[in-house]
Amino acid sequence: MHYLDHAATTPVSRETAEVMVRVMTEEYGNPSAQYELGRRAKTLVDQCRKTVAGALGCRPEQFTFTSCGTEGDNWAIRAALHQNRRVGRHIVTTAVEHSAVLRCVKHLEQEGYSVTYVKPDSAGRISTGQIAAALREDTALVSVMLVNNETGVRFPVEEIGGLLKDRAALLHTDAVQGFLKVPFTAEKLGADYITISAHKIGGPKGIGGQYAGGKAKNILPVLYGGGQESGLRPGTEATAQMAGFAKAVELRIGNREEVARRLADCRAYAVERLAEIEGLVFVGAGDAPHILSISLPGYPSQNIVGELGEQGIYISAGSACHRGKASHVLTAMGLDKRTAAGTVRVSFGPETVREDIDALVKALGEHKRKRFPML
Ligand code: PLP
Repeated sequence: MHYLDHAATTPVSRETAEVMVRVMTEEYGNPSAQYELGRRAKTLVDQCRKTVAGALGCRPEQFTFTSCGTEGDNWAIRAALHQNRRVGRHIVTTAVEHSAVLRCVKHLEQEGYSVTYVKPDSAGRISTGQIAAALREDTALVSVMLVNNETGVRFPVEEIGGLLKDRAALLHTDAVQGFLKVPFTAEKLGADYITISAHKIGGPKGIGGQYAGGKAKNILPVLYGGGQESGLRPGTEATAQMAGFAKAVELRIGNREEVARRLADCRAYAVERLAEIEGLVFVGAGDAPHILSISLPGYPSQNIVGELGEQGIYISAGSACHRGKASHVLTAMGLDKRTAAGTVRVSFGPETVREDIDALVKALGEHKRKRFPML
C-alpha cells in the first residue's frame, strides 16, 4: 500500500494508540468524579490541554477541546456572530474555504446574513487587500483559512489580523491543515478564533480544538449541559481522544525537524519525479509542505483515483469531502475545465517514503498510456 492522502487523514502511531488504550482500560474515570480515579482523569485532561495549547502557542484556558474541526469551524462562526450581533450581519470569507465553513455561512445566508466570498487568483492566492476591500461597517466576522486543503496555499492570516486589530469584526481561521505543518503561534496569528483537528497530525479522529482569544469574549457555548470545558463545550470529556491528541502533538513536536526534513524531501522528490510525466501540470502555488495538487488535463480525476486505488495507491480527487463533484476551489481559481477535471491531490506525512512517490509516478504514467485523453 502507498498512502498518499495525509491531508484527508493520517495514521495513528502504535505509541499514540497504546496511550489511548491505557486511558480507556485503566484511566477510565470520569474527570468530574470526586474519587482518585476521577481526579487522575481530570489531571490527564489538564495535561492534554496544556500540551495542545502549548503547541498552538496559547494559554490552556484559551483552548477548548471539540469533537472535530467541523464543530470548531461552525462554533467559531456562530460565537463570533453572536458576540458581534450589534455590529451587523455581514460576513467576509473566501470562496475556497472547507465546506465546514462554506456550508455554515451558506446556511446563515438563509437566516438573513450577507456573505462576501473573496475569490483567489489563478495560483489560489488571496491577498489582504482583497479582504480589506470586502470589509463593511457592518462586517461582524472574517473567516479565512490558514492553509487550503486542496492546493496547500497559505493565506496571509497575520496580515488580516493586523487589518482587523482596531475594528469590531472578529477573525476566525480554520487552521486544520496548517497546525504543525506551517509555523505559526496563536499570539502572532492575531486571529480571535483558531480551529484545529487531531486526525490531520497523527491523532485520532473525533477530537479537535478551538483557540479563543484576542477580541473574543462572552463566548457562546457550542452546547448546553454540564460544566465541562468551562461550560463552553459540555459533555463528559473524551479522555482517550484527548490523550491521543496530546501524544500525537508531542511526537510531532519532539521530531519537528526530522518531520520537516522528511516532508521537504518528499515534496522536492515528488515535484522532480512528477515533472517527468509529459503534460502533467502543477496546480496552485502550494506553500504547505504536505500538499501537492497536480493535474493530467483531459484525464478525469475520478478515473485516476479509482485506478490507482485498485493498485493500493491512495490519493484523492481534490478534497476528500467533495467526492465526484467539481471542486469549488479549482472553479474559484478559474482553472479551465479540462485541467480542473484532471486534478488530484497528493499529500504526504512523516511516514511517506520515496518508494511511495515512485509507485505514484509509475502508475500515473501507465494510466496516461492506457487511456485516451478526453477533449
Ligand atoms: N477544515 C479543513 C481545512 C479540513 O481540511 C478539514 C478536514 O478535511 C476540516 C476543516 C474538517 O475537520 P474534521 O474532519 O476534523 O471535521
